[in-house]
Amino acid sequence: MTAFNEVSARIVKFLLGLRPGSVRESGRSYDFLLQQINRRRAQLHEIDGTQLQAIIHELRCQAWNDSLLVEVFALAADQTERILGLRLFDVQLLGALVMSEGKVAEMQTGEGKTLAAVPAICALTLASGGVHVLTANDYLAQRDATWMGDIYRSLHFSVGYVTQQMTAEERRKAYACDVVYATPNEVGFDFLRDQLCLDPSELVHQPFHSVLFDEIDSILIDEARIPLVIAGGDMTPPEMAHRCATIARRLRLNTDYGIDEYARNVHLLDAGAAKVETALRCGNLYDLRNVQPLTAILDALHAEALLRRDVDYIVKNNAIELVDEFKGRIAENRRWAAGLQTAVEAKENLPLKKQGQILGAITLENLTALYPRICGMTGTAATQAEEFFKIYGLEVVAIPTNRPMIRVDEKDLLFRTKADKEQALVEEITCVHATGRPILVGTASVAESERLSARLRQAGIPHHVLNARNDEAEAQIIAQAGALGAVTISTNMAGRGTDIPLGGTPPRQRQTILDLGGLYVIGTNRHESRRIDHQLRGRSGRQGDPGSSRFFISLEDDLMERFGIREALRDRTPEVEAIEHVQRIIEGQNLEIRQTLRKYEQIIEAQRRIIHAKRRDVLTAADRSVLASHAPELFQRLCLDLGGIRLAELERRLTLMKIDEAWSNYLADVAELRCGIHWVSLGGKNPLDEYLHQTAMSFERLLNGLDEQIIDAFSHLQLDPHGEWAGLPGLDRGATWTYVINDQPFGDLGERMAKAIVQLVSQTITGQ
Ligand code: ADP
Ligand code: MG
Repeated sequence: MTAFNEVSARIVKFLLGLRPGSVRESGRSYDFLLQQINRRRAQLHEIDGTQLQAIIHELRCQAWNDSLLVEVFALAADQTERILGLRLFDVQLLGALVMSEGKVAEMQTGEGKTLAAVPAICALTLASGGVHVLTANDYLAQRDATWMGDIYRSLHFSVGYVTQQMTAEERRKAYACDVVYATPNEVGFDFLRDQLCLDPSELVHQPFHSVLFDEIDSILIDEARIPLVIAGGDMTPPEMAHRCATIARRLRLNTDYGIDEYARNVHLLDAGAAKVETALRCGNLYDLRNVQPLTAILDALHAEALLRRDVDYIVKNNAIELVDEFKGRIAENRRWAAGLQTAVEAKENLPLKKQGQILGAITLENLTALYPRICGMTGTAATQAEEFFKIYGLEVVAIPTNRPMIRVDEKDLLFRTKADKEQALVEEITCVHATGRPILVGTASVAESERLSARLRQAGIPHHVLNARNDEAEAQIIAQAGALGAVTISTNMAGRGTDIPLGGTPPRQRQTILDLGGLYVIGTNRHESRRIDHQLRGRSGRQGDPGSSRFFISLEDDLMERFGIREALRDRTPEVEAIEHVQRIIEGQNLEIRQTLRKYEQIIEAQRRIIHAKRRDVLTAADRSVLASHAPELFQRLCLDLGGIRLAELERRLTLMKIDEAWSNYLADVAELRCGIHWVSLGGKNPLDEYLHQTAMSFERLLNGLDEQIIDAFSHLQLDPHGEWAGLPGLDRGATWTYVINDQPFGDLGERMAKAIVQLVSQTITGQ
């Protein structure tokens, strides 16, 4: 087989929904395919409008076959050039081929991924029937759908996008399109809402065919395990929260309670427990009947001692807004698990929000698994190649840059104290700013960005701050961050999806900035994950522009403290090389933690699928009547009273409600089990085995109990004097709402892992 045939055979296999081959291929074997596409693109270029229409028409009329790959790529590239005036680079076509093959294309920032995705999206749509293009936020979903829209339409593909404030009707319309741009959260929330529909006409999703992720590492690695949640009903938050907040405020570290910085865990010491018992007058706090106050006080302590205002969350419009660690921006719609969320609200003296019962949940990883075809692109995948392959079976292919990358990544500067570091930062910024060269400073938290901003103000340096507090101004600040004399201080926000043009917008002084050396990126911290650091560096040196980057770090940084590096380095001259090594170890450990947690989730996801399939059969009336088959007498009586059609409809709705209720209760039980499961390990049992055993048993109970519940509900049904039926529970659901849980379950597990990390790290650094 020629190289061409091999590659195109793999692509076609993927497009048709078969497992992609697992042969690792170098970029070179794509060459022949590229040549073919370029030859065809040159032909199309010469063709006039009417003739082109005929060609497009012909393409759209054919069923998918091998020979269409080159044709659809060439047409997409040709239309891009005609409509946007941008000629796709070969490396962009290469990226598109890699994605069409079900892989991850690693393409650096500024290489034009938005455009590169287009031929792949067209091929996927043609072959599979539809594509979701999932991107980091609503703004990008709308921007990209609009920007690329005419290209799709010219090829007779419909295109739509979904954003948070859209109605169900608008969403349904968008999802009916061939190409849909959205965030994974919106797709996931709609999926959860669909699972609670009581009538098929309420569904908004179409069947899933293909998905292409932009910034795939952000979604499938950083956020993969975060559950999306749909909740309903009112559960008034416990009165106790305010009292507990007051008590927690008075307790003292190491006397009353202890914390574990690594695992972010907190526990009461004897003295503290005694104080709580006196304050609450509840007797022995560890008594079984005191589970509620104990949980509330632990949540309050957690909120008080471990969650930091302006780092982990900010207070905005009288409410708590969580800050996304990876993106440095407000994580919209994200909360902590119910009790902790209430505790933080109480800590900040805010009105307590009502908490609902969780009706359904899915992680992004499991959502992804619902698509038969997955592919994606990002600037930073290589360091996570192993994880992509292990978890998702996705290979990462690094695509060369269009022009050689000439950014200079300077060696880190390491300081003993934060104060030393800040001093040096201000001096460096002052110095470079004097030349007019634009500077982008990436900080680790809102608080840090503001502290540095204050220092710069003192030093008389004009600058912009971009953080979770003012993200409305984002597009505008970023657009000017490359202008002459610009100083921009940002949290990780400036990381993704945004292009920083040199010379500002419009790029008036581009040449001046090029002469000054391009954008200078300064990082004030290393992140746990090297990807996040690479993202920051990647803001500079796009498309062969000059640029440089440098990290300023200190031994008092969070990363150093949390993993005990500072201790380990106490008596030694710190070495910069050690840091990257440490990051690598932490990444490896994080992967291990994620893999362990995955084992706990898998069973629940498998069960969710069973429930979902059952529910779908009921919803579409494909299921037999439980009444007819298990309670024939009751069925006949009700048939006479209500009529067969009405009875069928009632049974359908009631069954759906019962399934949802049972599932929701089941989820609550599982959550409780998870909290308690680590105690099992004390008894010498393996927590995972115990967990699997218990969940399997209670799921079986759930399934077995369903029919009985339905029969039971109907046997209490009575006709009232007006001929209306009575005794049936409400058949309409109250309001539901959706959010994302920012939880760190299995604290004990994380703790053990973290301790192992510290040991490893100290050994590495001290070379023992
Ligand atoms: P990325 O997502 O890879 O960081 P973007 O898709 O945001 O990059 O594109 C960055 C910039 O490059 C955009 O302004 C876009 O118009 C431009 N661009 C992309 N492809 C081309 C091309 N083939 N020729 C010229 N400019 C391009
Ligand atoms: Mg992008």
